[in-house]
Amino acid sequence: MKCRVCGKPANINLRSYKTALCEEDFIAFLEKRVSATIGKYRLIDEADRPIVAVSGGKDSLSLWYMMNKLGYVSDGIYIDLGIEGYSERSLEKVRQMADTLRRRVYVFHVRNALQKGIDGVARVIRRPTCSACGTIKRYIMNRVCIDKGYTVLATGHNLDDEASALFGNVLYWKREYLWKKNVVLEGRGEHLVKKIKPFFLCSEREIAAYAIMKGIDYIYEECPYSEGAKTLVYKEMLNRIEESSPGTKIMFVKGYLKMLKEKGDEKEDGRESRYCLRCGYPTFSDKCSFCWLLDKFGTEYDVEFDQYN
Ligand SMILES: [Zn+2]
Ligand SMILES: [Zn+2]
Repeated sequence: MKCRVCGKPANINLRSYKTALCEEDFIAFLEKRVSATIGKYRLIDEADRPIVAVSGGKDSLSLWYMMNKLGYVSDGIYIDLGIEGYSERSLEKVRQMADTLRRRVYVFHVRNALQKGIDGVARVIRRPTCSACGTIKRYIMNRVCIDKGYTVLATGHNLDDEASALFGNVLYWKREYLWKKNVVLEGRGEHLVKKIKPFFLCSEREIAAYAIMKGIDYIYEECPYSEGAKTLVYKEMLNRIEESSPGTKIMFVKGYLKMLKEKGDEKEDGRESRYCLRCGYPTFSDKCSFCWLLDKFGTEYDVEFDQYN
C-alpha cells in the first residue's frame, strides 16, 4: 500500500477515511484534524491559559504533546489516586513528558489529602471506586484551574470514549445525560472552568499510532478498576461494527454533534444552578459532592498541589 499524499510506502491504513498514509503524512493529517476541531468549536482563544489533565496514558500525553506542538502552550495536572504500583508508574510517565515539554505539572496526591488510596476512599463513602474517582478528579481539576489561573481544561477523551458513552446513553435512553456530551462545555465564571476535548474526533487507534510514531512513552495498562466496565464492552462492540462498516464510529459521533447543534440551547434540566456554600463549586444542594466527601472523613482539609517543574 502506498501513501495517498506522497506515494512512499504507507505506515497506516485508515479505512474510515478510505486512505493510507506514511508516518509523516499521518502525523500531519491527525494534527490538522485537531487544529480544525480547536478552531471550529472555538476551544481555545488567544487570551486563554490552557492546562491538560494528564493520566500517563496515550491519549492525555499525546494531547499534551500535540497542544504544545501546535502552539497552545499548556501545563499539566496529574491526580495521584494512590493505586499501588500503577499510580507511581503513571506519574513517572507524566514527569518524563513534563521534562520533554519543559512545562509544569501540578500533582494532587489523594493519599496525602485523605490518608487512603482511591479504593479506601470509596469504601469510606460507600460508593463504587470509579464514582469516587470521578468526584475527586472533576473537583480537583476544576480547582487547580480556579486557584492557579488556568482558563481552559483540556482532557484526552477520544472518539471511542465518546462513541461508547453515547452508545450507552442511547441504549438505556438516559435522557439526563444524552445531550450533555460536547466538544466544549462552557464554564461558569469563578465557579467552573471551561472544559474542552480536542481529540473528540480522533480514534483511539489513531492516537495510539501517533504516540508510537512520536516516541511518546506512556503507561500501557488500563486502570485496574476499569476492568469489566461496561464502556469497554461497548468499545469492543463498536469496533466490530467499525470493522464491517468502516466510518460508522465517526458518523455516529458527528451525527450526534449535528443534532446537538440543531437542538440548540433548550434547557432540559429544570434545576437551577447553585453553588457550594463552603467552596463555590456547582452543586444541586448546599454542599458539593467533594465537600460532602470531606465531611465523611471528618476533615477540614483544603486542597494543595505539589508542583513539578
Ligand atoms: Zn506520505
Ligand atoms: Zn464544596
